[in-house]
Amino acid sequence: MSNKQAFSDMKPRTKLQRQVIAMSQCLSPITEKQKKWAFFHCFNHYGRRTKKGAAACLECGYTWNDKFLKPGASVCPHCGCKIEIIETRKRRFKRDEAYFCVLTTFRGYQVLRYFDLYVTRRVGREAWYGCKEVVQLWITPEGKYIPIARLRPLFACYTDSWNWNTDMEVRSVNSCYDINPNFVYPWTRVIPALKRNGFRGELYGCSPLRLFQTLLTNNRAETLLKAGQYPMFCHEVKSGVCSDSKYWPSVRICIRNGYRISDGALWCDYIDLLRYFNKDLFAAKYVCPVDLKVAHDHLERKKRERLAKEEFERMKGQVRRAEHEFRQQKSKFFGIRFSAGKIHVRVLESVEEYFEEGAMLHHCVFTQGYYKKSDTLLLSASVGQMRMETIEISLKTFQILQCRGAYNLPTAYHDEIVRLVERNMHLIRKRMTA
Ligand SMILES: [Zn+2]
Repeated sequence: MSNKQAFSDMKPRTKLQRQVIAMSQCLSPITEKQKKWAFFHCFNHYGRRTKKGAAACLECGYTWNDKFLKPGASVCPHCGCKIEIIETRKRRFKRDEAYFCVLTTFRGYQVLRYFDLYVTRRVGREAWYGCKEVVQLWITPEGKYIPIARLRPLFACYTDSWNWNTDMEVRSVNSCYDINPNFVYPWTRVIPALKRNGFRGELYGCSPLRLFQTLLTNNRAETLLKAGQYPMFCHEVKSGVCSDSKYWPSVRICIRNGYRISDGALWCDYIDLLRYFNKDLFAAKYVCPVDLKVAHDHLERKKRERLAKEEFERMKGQVRRAEHEFRQQKSKFFGIRFSAGKIHVRVLESVEEYFEEGAMLHHCVFTQGYYKKSDTLLLSASVGQMRMETIEISLKTFQILQCRGAYNLPTAYHDEIVRLVERNMHLIRKRMTA
């Protein structure tokens, strides 16, 4: 195999590597019980039927006739397997694959064994399952690891393909061996160091390698896990943000107050917002919000408003010059507002409001000088406190020219807003002729 096609093919060099490859050969193969569990849990099980009622269980291969069999959940009358019926005339189905992981130990090492599982199904035949070991990660109690794996063709990290002609050998440490498995075998063996640091079998959706390495080398992660701060622990495994002092003091306040951080990434973002507004990051009343999402969104909106104001200060001269002309053109429409349900629509009544609208919704009504256009009118639609969409109306034809939300995208309320504006167009028309 040439180097162009493969990652470096390593012979075991160090004493540790020689040791690990020797131990690897002593591991027993995957048991029948483990395989059975994996095949059952890692895949969906199917049956198929044609329009005419030719039915087949794609698990055991049994075929029968049933005109009343419906697509959806069912049970095979022959093998009793729960199957999902799909309606198709196809007889062969494309191969399904999944990764399965077994956590075990060997002479003081934590070993993660990854198996590539596959299944092919055909009408009239028993499903054919296969299983091949592709990666073993040998982790020391200090959190170092040695990968033993088959080769992957270069650049194939995203396509899940393996070079089946290669053996399980020591490979250089490379992120392509850090697999996030579809399923982990629930009966696990774990080294004492991990148990001591708080591991109780739950992976919280993290990659097992990253989780174990973090737990063996990062005592702040250990503290989070033992304090039951699972979402924050998970965030730490993925991001490592607790290693600097930006968040950790506030995390400790949360732990001391028995406050459970419900979303790690969102909470860190929220702490950054508190810092922006010079709030006390040691005060429980700030760092432990009752509703994190609400508190976060509130500060985020305030920050955006403040940034917009600052921008406005810089543009003030330009706005003041434009304001007078704007009033002359558009004041006859001031005061127009209407609503239906949660949606409120009003005319934008100053250049400053054009500026705010553009800043909040990230579109160009201000920068492109829409306030100077004499033949159109801008309205703003909001739901509660939230600006939703900006509507531009032609004062010649009384048609809606544009109706756009943040970043020029339509919102979930788009159609309702358009209908509401069209229903109330007469209000604008009336002022035009007045
Ligand atoms: Zn069956």
